Amino acid sequence: MIGLLKPTLQFEAIYKVPVSTLLDMGIGGLLLDLDNTIARWNDSTLTDDVVKWFEHAGRQGMKSCIISNNSSPERVARIAERLGIHYVFKAAKPRKKAFLMGIEVLGLEPDRIVVIGDQLFTDVLGANRVGLKSILVNPLFHREFAGTKVLRLMERMVGRRTVFSEPSVRVEKK
Ligand SMILES: [Mg+2]
Repeated sequence: MIGLLKPTLQFEAIYKVPVSTLLDMGIGGLLLDLDNTIARWNDSTLTDDVVKWFEHAGRQGMKSCIISNNSSPERVARIAERLGIHYVFKAAKPRKKAFLMGIEVLGLEPDRIVVIGDQLFTDVLGANRVGLKSILVNPLFHREFAGTKVLRLMERMVGRRTVFSEPSVRVEKK
């Protein structure tokens, strides 16, 4: 079980993930958590850091798709549209289906895709269950859905640590 909760890499925030590192890993597509990874929970506001990161990633040819457990399609769609990326909502992570849908939307081989999210028990577990690489980030803000707070307690129980990967990390291409 613990192995399934291990992310490939870990960074402080999505906008601290070096796109060059992703390219060096052979990554061409991202499956992204929304709440507290891209935007505040229940809020559609995007910070400049996040918007600029997506613009940069897009210019480098990175394809992106939000897979969110959020059940409000309007909010997910609004944010995806603003960032110019795809989305899948009501994902029920860590169930495999949403990740498989995301892989199809990106149209890439699974070994060229990385999942980026702030939770071990939804994002990282789901990624590992379908054999995708994953990047764990710190939650952007503290306010969260009540159910997430229970998962945070479980994260502490399994020893989630705040150890970030070096930005200069070089991963061998396949
Ligand atoms: Mg989240």
